[in-house]
Amino acid sequence: MAACQVKNAQRLRYQNHRFERMPGMSLLLDAFALVDCDVEASIALQKEPPACGPGCCQCCIQPIPATPLEILALRLFAELELPPSRRDALKATFARFRGERATVWDACPFLLEKSCCVYSVRPIACRRYVVFGQPCKMGEDATQTRPADVLHPRQDAMQAALRLTLPWYRERYTLPEHITEEETQAFFRGVTTVLQAVPWAKYA
Ligand code: SF4
Ligand code: SF4
Repeated sequence: MAACQVKNAQRLRYQNHRFERMPGMSLLLDAFALVDCDVEASIALQKEPPACGPGCCQCCIQPIPATPLEILALRLFAELELPPSRRDALKATFARFRGERATVWDACPFLLEKSCCVYSVRPIACRRYVVFGQPCKMGEDATQTRPADVLHPRQDAMQAALRLTLPWYRERYTLPEHITEEETQAFFRGVTTVLQAVPWAKYA
């Protein structure tokens, strides 16, 4: 079974000293690296390369789960790292979330011109979603139409990654000092939302 430790996930870690000095971001980048390492190891066990590629983005047009720290990372990345032209385009997208609220089936707001503008800090859900065989068709949710073509990275690797971010949550949420695996999972289920449900208009 594929396995990744934090120390050997470091080569996949997003390197950006300015970004990781922001609150919680160093923890989150460690978590992302752990997930990426596990996904890479899981893909290596497959017989064929993923169908995923540049411009392939149907997976971004469905509800995208994200935790509060991941949502903060997306905001910070957009503010700190995007060139002005992309930031302006993103703010125009955010503005569309004003008034008539977007639905969770709209495209992820960070999908600009068929490309993820926050790719380095995309949420864990995006990192783990990999499809084989053929690119997803418009409106296709491959987990429903052909689950055998969808990568199934290890759940415990994702849980380990989420646990790395617990110190950030401990400063903001009431959590017991000792928290069991089940309590940790329940906590993250409780704080997870979908990107399309975030009130982005206030950042436009
Ligand atoms: S998950 Fe589907 S839509 Fe997304 S990049 Fe892969 S093949 Fe394309
Ligand atoms: S964050 Fe990026 S990869 Fe994830 S759904 Fe949005 S555009 Fe797609």
